[in-house]
Amino acid sequence: MENKIYDVIIVGAGVSGSFIADQLTKEGMKCLMLEAGPFLDKDTYPTYEVLTSSKMYWSGGIELNKNASLAFLRPKVVGGGSIVNQALLDRFDEEAFGDWRSKSSIDYLNTRDMAPWYDKAEAKIAIQTIPDSARNRNAEIFLKGMEKNGFSAKALTRAQSGCEYEKGNDCIECLSGCRIDSKQSMPVTTLKSALAQGLKLIPLFEVENIKMNQDGVEISGIRGKKDAQKFKAKKLVMAAGAIGNSLLFLRSGLDKANPAIGENFYTHPQFMSLGVYKDPVNSFKSAFQSVKSDDPKFRKWGFKLENVFAPPAGLSMLVPGHGKAHADDMRKIPHMACIEVAVRDTNPGKISIDSKGRTVIDKKLNSEDKKRRDKGIEIINNIFSSTGAEKIIQGNTAIGLHLMGGCVLGTDGKNSVTNPEFNLHSNKNVYIADSSVFPSAPGINPSLTIMALSTMASKNIISGF
Ligand SMILES: Cc1cc2nc3c(=O)[nH]c(=O)nc-3n(C[C@H](O)[C@H](O)[C@H](O)COP(=O)(O)OP(=O)(O)OC[C@H]3O[C@@H](n4cnc5c(N)ncnc54)[C@H](O)[C@@H]3O)c2cc1C
Repeated sequence: MENKIYDVIIVGAGVSGSFIADQLTKEGMKCLMLEAGPFLDKDTYPTYEVLTSSKMYWSGGIELNKNASLAFLRPKVVGGGSIVNQALLDRFDEEAFGDWRSKSSIDYLNTRDMAPWYDKAEAKIAIQTIPDSARNRNAEIFLKGMEKNGFSAKALTRAQSGCEYEKGNDCIECLSGCRIDSKQSMPVTTLKSALAQGLKLIPLFEVENIKMNQDGVEISGIRGKKDAQKFKAKKLVMAAGAIGNSLLFLRSGLDKANPAIGENFYTHPQFMSLGVYKDPVNSFKSAFQSVKSDDPKFRKWGFKLENVFAPPAGLSMLVPGHGKAHADDMRKIPHMACIEVAVRDTNPGKISIDSKGRTVIDKKLNSEDKKRRDKGIEIINNIFSSTGAEKIIQGNTAIGLHLMGGCVLGTDGKNSVTNPEFNLHSNKNVYIADSSVFPSAPGINPSLTIMALSTMASKNIISGF
């Protein structure tokens, strides 16, 4: 046990934890950040795709729901999702906030009241629109197919400062961490300033238990897989992500006082389709995702289309089949275009633990979610067919990248975990503002809203001292 009592312990060095650490340390607070993953940088990010999974994700790369029909990618690295994500940033619309208000009864969840918090969050990072010159053939096929089928699309906005496409940079690599520090991940933005302002960060420290009383918190865990350590603080920020927060609370027995822990888990499940073309497409070249579907009809239908691609090992798990047939398909990678449908899921899942403390995730698609998925796949097939694809391959695994909920915001402690001031309902010394507080699936990229909510929560933490 370290004798020192910190002002604040922050569990998780991802998007929310880093934004909060930046603002608290700016006010001179003594903060300790504990992160289970390693501290890597542009010189040490893995260059071998499979090592990205084993070094930078929980459970060696992939976690599954109860019946193995849905795979989750949960980052475990200093910087959290900001290291491995695609850094697409969008503000939520009234449609998303309206649903949140009806589920949480929190009035400030609207575009007008959230606008100043989005402004503050955006001021912390460089945001650029991808230039037309960086488009590859995958993007051209998508744009042509969308137009032919009567849908609108536009250039993507991304957290980046200069991707050097003109120098032949292929940005698909940055799913393993950006090697030119263009992507605005936390270690090159808010975490960097927090460290300069005095934040103490311990990487490779897995928090295992939380004890709390009305005066403060005691956090225990394992450092480097062998040394048990404990720390004390006046206040605690839980920023371990949607699955991480629920697991820690459940393993610490806090569900008795907060019965909704683990409820309302959403993931924006994604389904990948590949169009195989006669001429090379080279989807992995240049900006591997530069345009997006912005058609209002898709919003109404409850999905969006992602014009992405995946590195070869990841792709090999999505391409169906075995043996020679699978290998023959994989040889066609340079000829493949790719579009995914990301469903705005309506069926809440549940995160729980079994009698041995192991993770159990109950998350299924209901008939509405399946209808949304099928409509999206139908449109993708039309896009590929109308642009000359010789074959269409339907990926066989659904993936959840946007992990949300489990400690949702709300005014009622019976069906929510985090109150409108971002405190745990049962304890005013514990704050949460990461992806776990999302009351439902917005159908929009979550990161920018996590940054805005975390900025808002920081003000409350500071004024709470
Ligand atoms: C491949 C991929 C692409 C994505 N693309 C986009 C995109 O383009 N735009 C977008 O908005 N979002 C995207 N996302 C989602 C986005 O990255 C997440 O929504 C966001 O990172 C969540 O932020 P967070 O602060 O809630 O948690 P995270 O950023 O995940 O941080 C949580 C941290 O807590 C740590 N932690 C958990 N448990 C413990 C513990 N017990 N002890 C210590 N530390 C712990 C984890 O290791 C992790 O580092 C993507 C995600 C993935 C995986």
